[in-house]
Amino acid sequence: MKKGIHPKYVTCKVTCACGNTFEVESTKSELHVETCSQCHPAYTGEQKNVAKRGRAEQFNRKYGLDKKED
Ligand SMILES: [Zn+2]
Repeated sequence: MKKGIHPKYVTCKVTCACGNTFEVESTKSELHVETCSQCHPAYTGEQKNVAKRGRAEQFNRKYGLDKKED
């Protein structure tokens, strides 16, 4: 049996360039990203667009942001 095939997932603290932080499940304990749902132009500037909004929701679902309280 090979070891290490299954990466160990931990709660990863993601820090965005805009200062926003959120947590995801990842193999790394810490990540830095350039954009997030709070500052990405597609999410902040074009939310009137329903299609883009759907993408933002996909993004949020992917990173578990839709569970946010606020
Ligand atoms: Zn951001």
